[in-house]
Amino acid sequence: MHSINEGLNPQKLNAVFVSHCHPDHYTDAEVLIEAMTRGMTRKNGVLAAAKSALNGSDACEASISKYHQRMVKERVEATPNVKFRVGGVGVLVTEARHTDPDAVGFRFETEFGDFAYTSDTEYYEGIAKYYRGVRLLTLCVMRPSGKPWKGHMSTDDAIRIIEETRPEQAVLTHLGMSMLLQGPAKEAKLIQEKTSVPTTAAADGMTIDFGESTTLRMGKGKAQQGLADFL
Ligand SMILES: [Zn+2]
Ligand SMILES: [Zn+2]
Repeated sequence: MHSINEGLNPQKLNAVFVSHCHPDHYTDAEVLIEAMTRGMTRKNGVLAAAKSALNGSDACEASISKYHQRMVKERVEATPNVKFRVGGVGVLVTEARHTDPDAVGFRFETEFGDFAYTSDTEYYEGIAKYYRGVRLLTLCVMRPSGKPWKGHMSTDDAIRIIEETRPEQAVLTHLGMSMLLQGPAKEAKLIQEKTSVPTTAAADGMTIDFGESTTLRMGKGKAQQGLADFL
């Protein structure tokens, strides 16, 4: 419903990516597969998902039913360092360290350069090797500076990752309650000041056009201002 309200057409999807088995990441994956396969009438598209999301694990049940997993043309078990293609785009699965031990991120290699999504992860020694050289890095920054949480990323962890990888541009998403109260735009500014990498906090309805240049357009979302401004 949200994608349709934003003027997108989920029937045009070529692939669905699921980073791990937590509901803020997998909910509606099945619905999007239904759209991608025209209401389950023809096998189509790629499903790339963490092992836990496909098969279940000690941490969780499978997030996507066998019924849906069978309707895609290609099913990729996304474990770190696996590579595959979706049309003209190369995809590298990156390692995330999170409360779902099978969690992964994704790096996309396009003719215009690379962009990547870290998914939920904490900072760890070696994370930079997956993201070095990307033009655009999207990070799941749940907590503001000074409020670390094991298995997740705070502004301070994002600063370390951005400093080690030096993307052209960074986007913060997956903003938790304490982040929203603190004001994500302020946290983005802090990152930008420390790293000199242009950094933006995502808001509902924000769009990113990734091509020869990268264009961010803010939507109608209010998260950018910080909830504190509205309370
Ligand atoms: Zn998670
Ligand atoms: Zn999450």
